Amino acid sequence: MIRVFHAFGKSFFSCNSDLTRLYTFYDHLNIHLLICPYCRAKFNCTFFSSYTRNMITFENGLNTCHTVSITRVICNSCNHTHALLPDHFIPFGSYTLSFILKVLRAYFFGSKTITNLCDFFQISISTLYDWIRLFKEQKHIWLGILNYAVISEVKFIDDILYCSKSVSSFYQITKTSFMQNFKTTLSDSS
Ligand SMILES: [Zn+2]
Repeated sequence: MIRVFHAFGKSFFSCNSDLTRLYTFYDHLNIHLLICPYCRAKFNCTFFSSYTRNMITFENGLNTCHTVSITRVICNSCNHTHALLPDHFIPFGSYTLSFILKVLRAYFFGSKTITNLCDFFQISISTLYDWIRLFKEQKHIWLGILNYAVISEVKFIDDILYCSKSVSSFYQITKTSFMQNFKTTLSDSS
């Protein structure tokens, strides 16, 4: 798998549609410039295939599932294949990162009860608690003990949504995508 960050600079998360983000991502992506994460060969990837997966977004007040096509490239140096995922995707998860951050922002903002919040976003309470636990764990890893206590959850989420903080830096530290369960990283060999 190749995570492609910063495809559109600071405006990336300010776009309101995850589907538009995905289409724009593929429209602008030059696969021939990629670096193979397995053998580090430069500029030697070409199109290999595509596959479909579900992408759950929150649009116009509704939890919406799209079936989208994901491009897979092959490295012509080592013959490994890699799926290409933009910033707002979480490997092995159907919900987009922007969806999850919207839910968590509403939770930490505290304007809704847990039940109302889950009804509004059409998610289960156990899913919400899984996301809260993972968010706190990964925020702690990302910021360290000192900044974890100083920066509020809402401020931290806003920094990600408005790109003053890039999820690529978390990936560089942990080799795991932000809000990806660490357990699934072990199975990420593509
Ligand atoms: Zn390679």
